[in-house]
Amino acid sequence: MSDFIVIGGGIAGISAAARLSDLGTVTVLEAEEALGYHASGRSAAMFEENYGNPAIVALNKVSADYHFHANGGYLTPRGFMLVAGPGEEAQFAADVTELGLHPIEIEDAYARVPILKPETVTLAALHEDAQDLDTDRMIQDFARVVRGASGKVVTKAEVTAIRHTGAGWQVTAGGEVYAAKQLVNAAGAWVDRIAALAGIAPIGITPKRRSMARLPAPGGHDVSTWPMLMGVGEGWYAKPDAGKLLVSPADADPVEPHDAFADDMVLAEGLARYEEKVTEPVTRVESNWAGLRSFVRDGALVLGPDPARPDFIWCAAQGGYGFQTAPAASRLIADLIGGRPSELDRETIAALSPERLR
Ligand SMILES: Cc1cc2nc3c(=O)[nH]c(=O)nc-3n(C[C@H](O)[C@H](O)[C@H](O)COP(=O)(O)OP(=O)(O)OC[C@H]3O[C@@H](n4cnc5c(N)ncnc54)[C@H](O)[C@@H]3O)c2cc1C
Repeated sequence: MSDFIVIGGGIAGISAAARLSDLGTVTVLEAEEALGYHASGRSAAMFEENYGNPAIVALNKVSADYHFHANGGYLTPRGFMLVAGPGEEAQFAADVTELGLHPIEIEDAYARVPILKPETVTLAALHEDAQDLDTDRMIQDFARVVRGASGKVVTKAEVTAIRHTGAGWQVTAGGEVYAAKQLVNAAGAWVDRIAALAGIAPIGITPKRRSMARLPAPGGHDVSTWPMLMGVGEGWYAKPDAGKLLVSPADADPVEPHDAFADDMVLAEGLARYEEKVTEPVTRVESNWAGLRSFVRDGALVLGPDPARPDFIWCAAQGGYGFQTAPAASRLIADLIGGRPSELDRETIAALSPERLR
């Protein structure tokens, strides 16, 4: 019997498992063949400290030190630039305030991203400190901590049954039965399905599809130094990636949990919104994909023991922030279970607790 079973081998589950390795033995059960197959393998890999509601921004800020320094650091400077045109002034002002950006001279914006179209981009604001995150290495490093502490990371282990016994939990996965004193639910879009198997009330998770297209570098430009670009109201975004440009329609369509794929029409409409702001037409999409960003109704994560059954621990609703919040979110889970003080204030912990949804 382990002390903890963690269901889900995305960034949420593997980071929680690593932090819990301080407190006991951990077994991670992941349905797919590899870690990070679903949302965690499909993200834009950004760390933007001001992105998210106040509880998420608090997690981002507490996570910053880990992102900058742990294991040699996971960040590379990228920068984040909001662009807007005629008729978008009010939304631009609202976004600048919400995201803590500073407006810049429009000539400066054209110099940073030479494909911006002067007719449709007349306002720009910047946050220099936004960073690229090495998400693959983060996942692998957390997995190494689990294995190094004699924990198990079991892939191709889809959880199909969960039973509470006098001593804890029995979990059937991939034809094996695993036992542990405490169960951590980090199954991403599937967390309410795991709760149903365990006889726990759902938190009302809503997976929302977000799509991405990879384009050749527009006009053959060297895009490596361009900031991430975003249209007002998060209408689209674009981000350099290994010499190419990723463009997302920033879609957020609610869907059932599944192996997500991009919707052609949504992608085409999003690419059109991006194209309106640039001088280089989209001539070719090299590849596209989608992932599920999973939210509860107030948009914050759900972290901590279930009020009705404290040996069932939620690590859920990472939305569009799962990587940037992971160091602090996983630390909070371990602090709550270990009875240790947290770096987060009481108000933030309450805003993340499962109790708030009951
Ligand atoms: C397009 C896109 C862009 C994004 N950009 C960013 C970004 O820039 N920065 C950022 O911080 N975040 C970003 N995100 C969000 C981030 O990717 C997610 O918040 C994060 O990956 C969620 O991690 P997770 O571990 O909760 O979910 P997942 O990675 O989906 O992991 C859940 C795992 O649970 C497993 N599972 C489910 N059911 C079972 C079962 N019955 N048995 C065993 N295993 C099971 C699944 O197979 C899956 O691997 C983005 C997301 C998308 C889609």
